[in-house]
Amino acid sequence: MAHRKPHLPEKTCQACGRPFAWRKKWARDWENVRYCSDACRTGRHSAATGVARKDGGR
Ligand SMILES: [Zn+2]
Repeated sequence: MAHRKPHLPEKTCQACGRPFAWRKKWARDWENVRYCSDACRTGRHSAATGVARKDGGR
């Protein structure tokens, strides 16, 4: 196997404490990424309510 898997950088989520790998969406802002997801980013990481409610009103 000559093909080697590219190693992606990893970080630890500041909210849930889990390690997460580099994503393309973070390519521009990887240095500032601290959370594994938007849920952790917004501080909403309660296990009870994992459903994202989107009441637009209209
Ligand atoms: Zn997280």
